[in-house]
Amino acid sequence: MLKKDLVMPKSNMIKKLREMQETNSSLLATNFYNYETLRGIMKAASQLNQPIILQLTKSSIDYMGLSVAVNLAKSSLEEYQVEGWLHLDHSVSYDLVHECLDAGFDSVMIDASEKPFEENMDITRKVVELAANYGANVEAELGYIAKLGQSKEKTGFTDPAEAKYFVEQTGINSLAVAIGSAHGFYTQEPNLDIQRLSEIRAATHIPLVLHGGSGIPGSSLKEAIKNGICKINLATEIKNIFMQTLKTSMAMNEDIDLRNVFPSAIHAVSRLVEEKLEIVKS
Ligand SMILES: [Zn+2]
Repeated sequence: MLKKDLVMPKSNMIKKLREMQETNSSLLATNFYNYETLRGIMKAASQLNQPIILQLTKSSIDYMGLSVAVNLAKSSLEEYQVEGWLHLDHSVSYDLVHECLDAGFDSVMIDASEKPFEENMDITRKVVELAANYGANVEAELGYIAKLGQSKEKTGFTDPAEAKYFVEQTGINSLAVAIGSAHGFYTQEPNLDIQRLSEIRAATHIPLVLHGGSGIPGSSLKEAIKNGICKINLATEIKNIFMQTLKTSMAMNEDIDLRNVFPSAIHAVSRLVEEKLEIVKS
């Protein structure tokens, strides 16, 4: 049964992204992995009174359990009085998309970017049809954005004409573009192809998404926002700062009371997200 009647009294994410597009601004989309990373993110968003997208990947859902993860996210948004949405990041599976929509996600990404073009279109089209019943946002990806462990040398930037065709044929609400960013850390400063980005925007007229936001300098992020990026994904830096801070504090301290150990790591996540929110909102 579809939860049509329970859908979002708050601002719908498709609408919100369109608003971002009209005003040349962007939302920050942060991945969370456990209660502590979520708490760090929420503190930052609440402190700066900024909206936020909370993202889960399949592995985070497997780790926390779907309903626990959803309830954590939703109750935190309420608790901290932050306008926010729950998004499924990089799903390769139609069934997982379905489960997440049933569980109350506001937005889903179907990532068939590694499949042949026609196949990517077919599965994306099916997801768009499904998500329409929930009023949920659908993000898809076109082009090659290196995943963790994949070569960053290989290129496969999004082609504007192909993007236009893909958007028209599938009816997606937002598109993740390959313009020089990659997942994980960069060995050298990434060079975003802003020209290509603005061509994709002109061709598609939909909100564009930048994956691999970790490690991209603020000036480049701002340039991307001016040219059509309406959602910036941040994951690696959150994981990294949380674990690095935790390791340091554990090395210096014998305390086994985790309620004393975790707060410095939560605080570090919070500082990081505040920094990124400052860039995105300005
Ligand atoms: Zn991504």
